Amino acid sequence: MIRTGADVPEGFVERTDVCVIGSGAGGGVAAAVLAGAGREVWILEEGPHVPRERMTQREEEMYPLLYRDGGEQRTDDGGISVLQGRALGGSTVVNMADVTGIREEVWAHWRQRFGLTRYDLDALAEAEAICRGVIGANPIAPSRLNRNNARLIEGGARLGLATSTMEHNRTGCVGSGYCLVGCAYDAKRSVALTWIPRALATGHATIQTEARVERLEHERGRVIAANGQIVRVRDSAALAPFRIEADTFVIAAGSVHSPLLLAASGLGGRAVGRHLSLQPQAPVAAVFPDEIEMFRGIPQAALVDCERASAEDGLAGFRLEAVSATPGMAAVTTALDTEQLHRFMASYRRVAACLCLVPDRPTGEVRRAWSGRPRIHYRLDASTEATLLEAIETAARCWLAAGAQLVALPIPGIPPVRSVDELGQLAGARLRPAEAPLISAHPQGTCRMGPDPATSVVGLDHRIHGTDNAYVFDASVFPTTAASHTQLPVMALSWLGARALIS
Ligand SMILES: Cc1cc2nc3c(=O)[nH]c(=O)nc-3n(C[C@H](O)[C@H](O)[C@H](O)COP(=O)(O)OP(=O)(O)OC[C@H]3O[C@@H](n4cnc5c(N)ncnc54)[C@H](O)[C@@H]3O)c2cc1C
Ligand code: SF4
Repeated sequence: MIRTGADVPEGFVERTDVCVIGSGAGGGVAAAVLAGAGREVWILEEGPHVPRERMTQREEEMYPLLYRDGGEQRTDDGGISVLQGRALGGSTVVNMADVTGIREEVWAHWRQRFGLTRYDLDALAEAEAICRGVIGANPIAPSRLNRNNARLIEGGARLGLATSTMEHNRTGCVGSGYCLVGCAYDAKRSVALTWIPRALATGHATIQTEARVERLEHERGRVIAANGQIVRVRDSAALAPFRIEADTFVIAAGSVHSPLLLAASGLGGRAVGRHLSLQPQAPVAAVFPDEIEMFRGIPQAALVDCERASAEDGLAGFRLEAVSATPGMAAVTTALDTEQLHRFMASYRRVAACLCLVPDRPTGEVRRAWSGRPRIHYRLDASTEATLLEAIETAARCWLAAGAQLVALPIPGIPPVRSVDELGQLAGARLRPAEAPLISAHPQGTCRMGPDPATSVVGLDHRIHGTDNAYVFDASVFPTTAASHTQLPVMALSWLGARALIS
């Protein structure tokens, strides 16, 4: 059963076996596994349930409905837009549906440097294969590449770089291009369409949407209740209180809100909120002489892979991925002045774009501000900044090699370039805080997994240090960035952790 806020105008008090907080990649998987083992599971989700009939493909309606803060969540200096979904299915409802596993180099790094030795590579491979099956992962056929994606591959290949098409979890995709504002065709196999129905089909799961958990009540190391408020979707106003008592609690509110909830509840110790990675992404857009129509077709399918093994970080380097932006998103993610932006948007049909994705170091922090809201503190460190600049230059070279007339760089003060020679302007360039239009769709860390309670929040079994019965299952447990897309890594770790809980 899926209940909305309107179903419980007076709030409610319930008791259950397992209470799962958050219904995204981590929470959805944990709920399905635990309900599948016969546990009575309640899933509490702050966002609304938005079935496809309500997906209007209109930016001004869908960002406020589906995204945290209407898509306006940012770091405390305003510099990086931190995108997260807030709906049944979490960020998987608004994501780009690319499926990448945890690379061997990253897994080895997590095991050796952070002591995550509970599972070997074979166990990870099995978990990823099962999750891939549930979400319908499949390779994107090269014939499905739109001109934006095809040009990136063409440019990358001309430069001799490693290019490929990615894997995705779409089936029956009509190529409408609206993935970022929710799929009106149910082609994107989000958690709301895969793991959540699996959980419901067991007959052991109940879902309460529009329910924000604000505090976990605990006594002598045992969490006894989740307390919160039914909220109004439009403005998150509190409408009615609720309380759920349970034997086991799974916190899966994502890398920004899981640490906030633990901090509000006095759980998790000194490491709560620390070690945040944002994996910042910089957009590089190009104008071609012919029509590209990046907004039609599968938005993000092509990859130029410039990642390399690194003894220090597991993986270093960067990935370039073609991307389409809805017009509003495109307009706010350029670093152009008004005049340039006007010309750029007038050429929108001829624009191609890609994102430079850089595995960063876990140097950020999520704190609880006096208002109770999250304060996301993050500054680019020197090595991430240098890699982002290298990635931006490589992206520009790819677009020029593919025949672009002009490339807009995401660096204020540097005008669009028309030739490789003009890229000389990048020498000595800086990505200054709050100036470059950076995006993060992959916040990770903040409830780090590890054996030592002094430096981590959860143990290798996902249990919060110092508690008997409370676990974290989401992207916040990663010790460092997964160095790529995060939905499958989150699902695979959750699957392993939840299976261990029932065995
Ligand atoms: C725009 C965008 C594009 C992306 N593209 C890709 C991609 O192509 N491929 C990929 O692999 N990954 C992608 N990702 C990332 C991926 O979707 C996430 O990493 C993944 O969903 C994270 O899982 P999670 O469980 O940690 O959090 P989420 O999936 O974000 O779920 C957390 C849920 O908890 C809820 N919640 C928060 N606080 C509370 C509370 N106090 N009480 C109750 N509920 C609460 C939230 O509303 C949310 O629904 C993208 C993300 C975004 C935003
Ligand atoms: S491109 Fe495909 S998956 Fe994305 S919104 Fe359109 S139909 Fe859905």
